[in-house]
Amino acid sequence: MTRAQIAVRAPLLAWFDLHRRDLPWRRSRDPYAIWVSEVMLQQTQVSTVIPYWDRFLARFPTVEALAAASLPEVLSLWRGLGYYARARNLHRAAKAVVAEHEGKLPSEPELLRKLPGFGRYTTGAVASIAFGRELPVVDGNVARVLSRLFAVEGAPGDAKREALLWRRAGELVAGDRPGDFNQALMELGALVCRMESPACLLCPVRASCAALASGRVSELPAARARAPRKKLRLAVAVCRKSREVLLGMREERGLFGGLWELPCAEIAPGAGPAQVLSALQSAVGASIRLEASLGSVRRTLTHRDLELSLYRVTAKSEPRPSAGYQEFRWVSPGEAQNLGMSTAMQRALELASG
Ligand code: SF4
Repeated sequence: MTRAQIAVRAPLLAWFDLHRRDLPWRRSRDPYAIWVSEVMLQQTQVSTVIPYWDRFLARFPTVEALAAASLPEVLSLWRGLGYYARARNLHRAAKAVVAEHEGKLPSEPELLRKLPGFGRYTTGAVASIAFGRELPVVDGNVARVLSRLFAVEGAPGDAKREALLWRRAGELVAGDRPGDFNQALMELGALVCRMESPACLLCPVRASCAALASGRVSELPAARARAPRKKLRLAVAVCRKSREVLLGMREERGLFGGLWELPCAEIAPGAGPAQVLSALQSAVGASIRLEASLGSVRRTLTHRDLELSLYRVTAKSEPRPSAGYQEFRWVSPGEAQNLGMSTAMQRALELASG
């Protein structure tokens, strides 16, 4: 064992044993349940994930149940969690586990890595927590802890820094209880070694912390250079036939892939009626008349600001799924509730329904 391992592993594991949060997925030894939690926790806070995880496991208690579900059903349980590609990959991976591994998540990291959605982080988390493999994980919390512990220079996103962090994490995880060790590092980042005001006095590894010893805790890690937020403006068609409204299911890629929505298309800032009409005709796949503006919905996503401008339209011919859509359907307000829609589109539908 290296000096760093000796100095960090035992105190951190002892601290984790005393201070770990009692989270529902930590009471389970089921690799599937652990996998779902790890996917949900990416980019999402623990308190947000808990009710989603409970509902998801209640509806899909096994890999087989998830694989047998339709994608809209899966996405409807994901609504509000965002990053819908995670749900699509989870669903695809469940089908692959059933088809290729008799419904059992494989324990070998090389096999896990071949499943949809299993990048380096998810593979490390599932392999270590569910199967006791000595594989590291580096998420935002772990990166912050290791940056301070070993005074690693560079800002998030810097390739040299990332490589060094994964190497450090790989050295530290070697030994017994690798799953607990990885969770302990993440827990330390979430509860003690926080971004703002870390609680160094309470930290179990403060004796080995390079940033604390050199008075550089507030400097590390360096701040990421923030890219300006992108704006996405969409014109949205509210097209009715008696009490039903036209919804389309997006192709399974992109921001809202696989989700149901009012047909919509991107428009430029300050687009006039002619551009809106042209964009919506392409989205609806039919010649339409623009009747009235119904207002707009704004949502802040992680990397962009979304603005949905709603228009009541009349179709002059039967709408047909156009580029970007797999299927169109006329649905009643009740049916729409049960389809997988993003929160933004749900708000738009509420606005359209008055
Ligand atoms: Fe983080 Fe402070 Fe602990 Fe260092 S001593 S790892 S900066 S909480």
